[in-house]
Amino acid sequence: MNEDCIFCKIVAGEIPSDEVYQDEWVYAFRDINPAAPTHVLIIPKEHVVNTNELRDEHKDIAAALLLAAPKIAAQEGIAESGYRLIMNNGPDGRQEVMHMHLHVLGGARMQHPMG
Ligand code: AMP
Repeated sequence: MNEDCIFCKIVAGEIPSDEVYQDEWVYAFRDINPAAPTHVLIIPKEHVVNTNELRDEHKDIAAALLLAAPKIAAQEGIAESGYRLIMNNGPDGRQEVMHMHLHVLGGARMQHPMG
């Protein structure tokens, strides 16, 4: 755990969150400032800053992040209607919280940043 990290504090239960899903590797909760009707963040329980820090020993974490997404989508009722998975990395990638997280956005058709 990183003592200065708000997402580590969420995993530890020191900051409240609206839990959606968890397993051995990841924790998922509703984004406090939703950008879509369904907006869930999936984070590794272990502190990893972003994809730059991923190493071979993080295979379980990397897989668990992606595998949690369709489970959450099904749970939220957006698996068939569709959803976007976004991971922001670093300053130009608009990463604000420096604990890796995968955004699950659905419930409405969203603008596509790549046109
Ligand atoms: P990013 O720009 O990819 O780093 O996104 C960080 C996300 O974390 C934003 O969408 C915030 O709304 C969200 N966020 C920050 N603090 C909290 C919190 N305490 N609970 C839930 N979501 C949060």
